[in-house]
Formats: sequence, C-alpha cells, structure tokens
Amino acid sequence: MKPKIWLSAPHMSGNELPFINEAFNSNWVAPLGPNVNGFENDLQSYLMEDRYVAALASGTSALHLSLILLGVDYGDEVICQSKTFSASANPIIYQGATPVFVDSEKDTWNMCPIQLEIAIKDRVAKGRKPKAIIAVHLYGMPYNVDEITKVALKYNIPIVEDSAESLGSQYNGRNCGTFGDFSILSFNGNKIITTSGGGALVTKSLKLKEKAVFLATQARDNAPHYLHSEIGYNYRMSNIVAGIGRGQMTILDSHVAKRRSNYQLYSNSLKHIDKITFLNEPEGYFSNRWLSCILLDSENTREGLRLALEKENIESRPLWKPMHQQPIFKKYPSYLNGVSDALFNKGLCLPSGSNLTNNELERVISTIKAYFVTC
Ligand SMILES: *Cc1c(COP(=O)(O)O)cnc(C)c1O
Repeated sequence: MKPKIWLSAPHMSGNELPFINEAFNSNWVAPLGPNVNGFENDLQSYLMEDRYVAALASGTSALHLSLILLGVDYGDEVICQSKTFSASANPIIYQGATPVFVDSEKDTWNMCPIQLEIAIKDRVAKGRKPKAIIAVHLYGMPYNVDEITKVALKYNIPIVEDSAESLGSQYNGRNCGTFGDFSILSFNGNKIITTSGGGALVTKSLKLKEKAVFLATQARDNAPHYLHSEIGYNYRMSNIVAGIGRGQMTILDSHVAKRRSNYQLYSNSLKHIDKITFLNEPEGYFSNRWLSCILLDSENTREGLRLALEKENIESRPLWKPMHQQPIFKKYPSYLNGVSDALFNKGLCLPSGSNLTNNELERVISTIKAYFVTC
C-alpha cells in the first residue's frame, strides 16, 4: 500500500519546542503563564484592528463564551449558517437556545445575505427576533462581509464571526477574525496553524476579554477563598499548548502561501477537465485556501472520485453536510435556497496540508486525471 496522504495534517516548524522547553524550565505547566500571554499578543498584532484576544481550550468554547457574553439564554433563537461544521451550532444548544439555519450563496458558499434577511423578517414577524447571527468563513473563503454586516446592522443583531477556518484570510484588505461583534479562531489539529487543540475569542474591548477569561477560569470572584456569583467554565488554554501556538505564529504566513499554492496547482492541472469546477476568489476576497475544494458535475462522479482516491490511500472528503440535514438539527427552523444541498452532493475537499510534498500532490493529481480518463 502506498503511504497515506492526509486531508490536512499538522505541520510543526521546529520553532515550537523552545517555547515548550521554556515552559517546563520555568515550571509554568498550568492554564496560565508567559506563553498564554505571548500567544495572545502575537494574535492581536497579527489581526491588528485594535482587538483583544483570549486564548481558550478550543474554538467551540470560544463560540460558547461569545453566546454567553451576548446574553443568549434559554428559549432564545440564534441564526447560524447551515453549511458549516457542527461546532458552529452546538453551543446554541448548550445555552438552551434554538438554532435557525440559513442557506448559502453560490459566490462564497457562505451565508446568503438575501436568505438571512428573509429569515430575520420571518422570525421577527413570529415575535422571535434572533439574539445573534453566527456567520462562517468556510474553507478560508470570507463570507460577504459588507452585505451580511449591513443586514445585521439594519436589524441590530450582533454577529459572531466563526473564523475557525480562516486565520490568514482577508476581505478588502482586512483580516478575518476582526469583523464580528465577537470572532473566534480554532487551532485544532487540522487547521491552518495548530496547537494540537485550542482556540481563541476575539473581542472589541479589554473589558470583554477580561470577562471571557473570568468565565473561562471558573468565574472566581475576587476573595481569599473560592467565591462564585456566576457559573464558570474550565475553558482556558494551557501554557504548554500556547507555546506550540507561539511557534506556529512564526510560520502562519508561509502556511497560507503554501496552501494557496496547493490550490493553484490543483486548479492549473485540473481546469481542463470539464466535470470539475473551482471556487474563485471574488474581487476583494483573499482566501487562505485552508482546504482546496472542487465541485463535480454530479453526486455519482463525486463519490466515484472519492473512492478512486481512497483506493490510492488518499484522503478526501465531501463538503460539510449542512446542519439542516443533520439528524440532530433537522427539527429546527431553516431558510433554504438549495445551494448548500447541491454543494454537499457535488463537492469534494482534496488533500490540502501545508506539508504536502510535490510528489504527494502529483499523486493526487494523476489519480484524479486517471479517474476522468476511465469514468
Ligand atoms: C474547527 C471548527 C470549529 C471548532 O473549533 P475547535 O477548536 O475544534 O473546537 C468551529 N467552526 C468551524 C467552522 C470549524 O471548522
């Protein structure tokens, strides 16, 4: 069997270990310490735009805290992009609130501004004005920030920007992770940079960051004994993990460049196959190309290609199955236009890691070409 080619494998630079050794040598082996502060500062300087970053245990915990900080509570409704990973929607349920799913637009595969406004109007008419909007930059492609923000402002509903897949992406020259009332990042093992597991909440004020850290460290009031007047969470990032993050920040831009070059190679090598189409960057959009995705002409072709790759020990995966199709979320309201369903049926994510070799990329490309010669 040929060696496995993964969809998106971790990629260490060697710059991580000195930060971890420093944590061991100074005995900062705890969910606080110099690496946690350093990683937060690194992220703040990278994002610019006067934001404050709280390093947390995961992107999911960052989403959960952002809903808590927005006052989302039992019985409330929260709008969520349907085409996404389940982690975008799960924290709505943690709060006892109801998700309302909104379909995608063809240009970005992200939340459709027209469907968003239809959904808001209908919920308001039913006396159920949504408490927040969770919009996602999928696969690194920014959502239509101008239009989504315009609708959100019109109805005065805050945005939680799920930037888990889009650190290093930009919209009109501004970094993803700075567009929401709250924004979240993820450093899970498969993301553009990884800390093995981890995430961050991006806030617009120091006060909100401090409140997030307070909640993430068990909500301990200021007293010599343990005193609690609010429910807390154990959501802070470990100082060891943050050391990996500091090392990864030194190579983030080169990871973005490599993932973009993977995408360019796939599109140059495969664009002559008329059953394959790519998602181009609209004017003003800059995608980190976290995953290189293709659309096939039908579900059959998609599944045939996936199996042909699997036979060669190459991992690929259909695009996210929309939340409105998930057994656990089917029962909730959704506002649909068919786009995310079609993308799920016809779309495939190709191996996209920043550590893929030319030989590995060639193996993927030749397997795809061979499939289209024989199918
Ligand atoms: C990975 C991911 C998350 C969750 O982040 P974790 O750090 O794994 O908890 C949330 N939303 C999207 C779109 C993701 O891809």
